[in-house]
Parts: sequence; structure tokens; C-alpha cells
Amino acid sequence: MDRRHFLATGGAALGGLALCSGSWAAPAPRTEEPEIMTVTGPIAPSEMGRTLTHEHVMVDFAGVDVVGAHRYDRDEVVETVRPHLAEVADAGGRTFVDCTPAYLGRDPRVLCRLSQATGVQILTNTGYYGARDDQHIPQHAYADSVDALAGRWVAEWETGIGETDVRPGFLKIGVDSGSLSDMDRKLVRAACRAHRQTGLTIAVHTGPAQPAFEQLDVLAEEGIEPRAWIWVHAQNETDTTRHLDAARRGGWVSLDGYEPEHTERYVRLVTAFRESGLLDRLLLSHDNGWYSVGEPGGGSFASYTALFTDLIPALRDAGVSEADVRQLLVENPADAFAIRPRTTR
Ligand SMILES: [Zn+2]
Repeated sequence: MDRRHFLATGGAALGGLALCSGSWAAPAPRTEEPEIMTVTGPIAPSEMGRTLTHEHVMVDFAGVDVVGAHRYDRDEVVETVRPHLAEVADAGGRTFVDCTPAYLGRDPRVLCRLSQATGVQILTNTGYYGARDDQHIPQHAYADSVDALAGRWVAEWETGIGETDVRPGFLKIGVDSGSLSDMDRKLVRAACRAHRQTGLTIAVHTGPAQPAFEQLDVLAEEGIEPRAWIWVHAQNETDTTRHLDAARRGGWVSLDGYEPEHTERYVRLVTAFRESGLLDRLLLSHDNGWYSVGEPGGGSFASYTALFTDLIPALRDAGVSEADVRQLLVENPADAFAIRPRTTR
């Protein structure tokens, strides 16, 4: 059913249903080229352009029993964040991956409005965040089987998030920084099964190497290739050999805490990947933003542009070629978020 037909026949009766994509259709059979799913609909990987792979529009840390749209004013959030996203566009950024999960301030309506207002393509996600000692994990996740949990995320992919037609562009889960807890392990396993059904890439808030490599073991048990997986916040691991090990196994290593004061370290890390022939496994971003729900005016905001204005020139000065910069900012994100199952069996 096309959108016009949908609106004419039943859309209005559904009241609050937000039609953002304008191209709503059931997920296509995956026989064609892989695609990227933005909040306003699918695009080809070649349309992704310069991409920030880990940022946040809004975050609400209040906890799973408290969060919800009643806690903020959508107009205020959009007006607060819009100039920061416009700066991304001005700096040559075309796509923005919003990594705020459900129960932490994910709001597809806000993301749609921001994308439409700025022209920046935005990806949102499905999955649960088990870092911060599970205070953002809903009660049903404890009772659910692994498959039931995966099924909830697959349902968002198939029919849209909540009352909207916005579909997730990736799976985002979180684990704590020590050895994987039972809940962490369940989330990783459920993400693997949801990946198998949807082809959505699995980004995992992780940090140090220990839980990262434990996740790779779970992926192996589930028959999922490491190239379907992103080690988020890998900069929190100080041993670069561990980064390179994960990349050699095929995983995506996300160095996503860039600020100008980290330039020397980021140049060193990028150089290490380049010299090891692993530049095609690396993702860069700031983990910046965001409108903090519960703080007056959304609190202080960290902008999304230092990567373009500070890191890229520093990389060029260190001898990183234009082709390598393009690989980091354009080709790697397109490959990382292109939707297709990556399975070993
Ligand atoms: Zn983040």
C-alpha cells in the first residue's frame, strides 16, 4: 500500500501515527542491494556521505520507570538541537547516527523533525541498554526468552517504532564494562538473533576489551560474523593491540569520544590502524550532544563538528591521504550500516 492510499483509507483513523518516511512499505525482500535505513526512509549506501557514527540528540538518564515524552517539550528539543545539526551540514556532514536507545530518550518524532528541518539524514536504533547496571532495562526483558526479546526488536524493524512508521537503522545495545553479566549476555544473544532476521548491524556500548571479546565469543556461538558488530567506546581500552586484534577478526572498532584535546591520541590510533592495513575497520565520532531531559533548556551542549574542523586537518598533517579520510568518514560508515545479514552459518 502506498502512502497516499494509506492516508486516504485508514491513516487518519490511527490518529497519532507519525508518517515520517513518506515511503512507507513493508521491508523489501533482501535480494537487492543493501540499503541504509534513515528515520525518513531507506537510502543507498552511496548516499550516506560524511557520517558521524555515534552521537546523541537527546538523553534522559532518569531510569526506565520514569522516562517518557511527558518529560520534555518536543518543540524545545527540536529548537535546541537544530542549530547543532545545521553545523554538521555546514561542515560537510550528511548523515548522523543517533545512538540513544529506547528508555533513554529515543524519540523518532524528534529525529524526523530535525532531519526534515536540517536535511541531515538521521539513523535511529532498536535494542536495550544494559550498561549503568541495568537501570534502563525494562522489566519484561528479564522474563522474556532470548527469542522473545529479539522478536520485540524485529517487530520495530518490521512495523516501525511505537506509533510511528520510523524504522531502526541498526541495533544498539549496551553492556557494563566488566565481564558480561547474565543480562548483558542475553542482550548480545538477542541482538545476534535479531541481526539474523533483519540484517541490522549490532552496535554495543562496551568500553574495555574484556566485554568486547566476550561478545565476539557470543557472536561466534550464534553464527554471526564480527563484521556485523561495532565495539562502541573502544577508546576506553588503553591497549591498542586489543583494538587491532578485534579489527583483524573483522569487528568494527569505534573510537567515538573525540574532542580537540584528544587529537594526538586519535592521530596515533588512526596511524596504527593504517599501518596495520586495518583502516577499513575503524569508525570515528564524538559521542556528543545532547538535550539532557530534566535540565533547564536541556543543559549544556557539546557540538558535533570538531572531527571535521580539528581531527581531519590533523590527520592530513600526519600524512593521512584524502582517500584514507574518505574511507574513515564515508566508506566505512556506509559499509558498517548497510543492512544485510552477516552470518557464518
Ligand atoms: Zn553514546
